[in-house]
Amino acid sequence: MSTPRCSLPDIVGGEEMRRRRRRKRYALSGLKWHKTDLTWSVHSYPSRSSVSPDQVKGLLAHALKAWSDAAPLNFRQLPGDGEAGGDIRVSFASLLHNDGYPFDGPGGTLAHAFFPGIDEVSGDTHFDDHETWSYGGTNLQ
Ligand SMILES: [Zn+2]
Repeated sequence: MSTPRCSLPDIVGGEEMRRRRRRKRYALSGLKWHKTDLTWSVHSYPSRSSVSPDQVKGLLAHALKAWSDAAPLNFRQLPGDGEAGGDIRVSFASLLHNDGYPFDGPGGTLAHAFFPGIDEVSGDTHFDDHETWSYGGTNLQ
């Protein structure tokens, strides 16, 4: 239970309900993208990072390629940081960050994302800037 995980809250209920829900690693919302060519940009980076923004963008591109390899979606990064919009806006944020889903400091919730759709925030993905991010032995924070 103390292992960090995505931002779904713990389920309180009977053992059978907990066992069934633990097997579920994703949520089906019924929402979907209404196009197959999607754009993305990074609006902020880990604030205490020793890793370059290019490395962060490289990791995101790798993750999105895994997605596009498995689904009929194409992802294109928009040039520029911060002011670039796009369908999926990625940011690293702490605690209250103006979306009604505050992060909780180190540990606990690591990240969250909004379901696809046509809303302004659809697809936006937020990472908790209080976490120590790492990849391949390189600390991202
Ligand atoms: Zn958020």
